[in-house]
Amino acid sequence: MQEIRFIPCKAFKEKPADETKLGFGKKFTDYRFVMDYYDGAWQDARIEPNEPFQLDAATSVLHYGQAIFEGLKCYRREDGGLQIFRAKDNFARMNRSADRLAIPLFDEELALKGLIELLKIEKDWVPHAEGTSLYIRPTIISMDPFLGVSAGKYYKFYIILSPSGAYYASGLAPVGIYVEDKYVRAVRGGLGFAKTAANYAASIKAGEIAKKRGYAQVLWLDGVEQKYVEEVGSMNMFFIIDGVIVTPALNGSILAGITRDSILKLAADMGYKVEERRLSIDEVFEAARNGKLDEAFGSGTAAVVSPVNELCREDEVVRIGDGNIGPITQKLYDTLTGIQFGKGEDKFGWVTRI
Ligand SMILES: *Cc1c(COP(=O)(O)O)cnc(C)c1O
Repeated sequence: MQEIRFIPCKAFKEKPADETKLGFGKKFTDYRFVMDYYDGAWQDARIEPNEPFQLDAATSVLHYGQAIFEGLKCYRREDGGLQIFRAKDNFARMNRSADRLAIPLFDEELALKGLIELLKIEKDWVPHAEGTSLYIRPTIISMDPFLGVSAGKYYKFYIILSPSGAYYASGLAPVGIYVEDKYVRAVRGGLGFAKTAANYAASIKAGEIAKKRGYAQVLWLDGVEQKYVEEVGSMNMFFIIDGVIVTPALNGSILAGITRDSILKLAADMGYKVEERRLSIDEVFEAARNGKLDEAFGSGTAAVVSPVNELCREDEVVRIGDGNIGPITQKLYDTLTGIQFGKGEDKFGWVTRI
């Protein structure tokens, strides 16, 4: 495996003093891990100061959007030790995204080694307060400095780190969700299963409309018939219908969330009945009207789970549960965060100690 070079910083940033005001994605650590692709290979793996890049105005990523990313976290255990959660799965998914966007595949083991070395250097940046973590953002962008649509010859892979606050400052507050029936996020055969910038570009307008109507997130329907539930903004969706935990099956236009997969495995292990299948929005509303929609929540790395207490579709609004987080949602949240922060048993071997 390639050696990882180290280029020291000349000056260091001040670490955030107040861990209750970290927010998300605002501050970044001193170093990043980087590799460059040229002459047909990923080369020059290194840890270097996290300074601004210089880019030519023609750089291909700025025009044609060949950009993919990942999101995971480094957690501080009660004993002070650090750990990451299912990082191998993030790099495997990143290569699936790379393949779809004609970005050259990278060595997942080297990326994992680079991440671990970076975390060892930046260990003091992992916050200590309850529920906080160090967010990890691996990214690849195309770097060819000319206009012309084709697979490039130059790419940059980098990992940056950002201390992030507790997602739920005051308990798991449920949110309302707006069912989008005009715009679509992705279609089968498109980019939906890839974690790519374009999917977010496609989603921002609908997000702003939902926000104006007082809803925190958009629920996307399938891009062909606009009948079947896909996912919300940056989360997969779960519904508990008549005691059964249901989530849309991965159909090519849904992002295969690692939190989604973890919840499916934990819920089955706890003895719940789980179903991955096609789920129409009519079935969800029908269940809600008949009092059979027990709970609903989104799942993703940032929030882990986000309980949903209200759905709005055109002029119809349905409420879910009594407005508080449901008991199964709470149990799944407690179990998963327990594993991530090193308090619960890691039955599935998901954790890597740093
Ligand atoms: C990242 C992401 C998710 C959640 O994936 P996790 O691996 O659970 O964090 C869900 N949907 C979209 C569109 C995403 O980009």
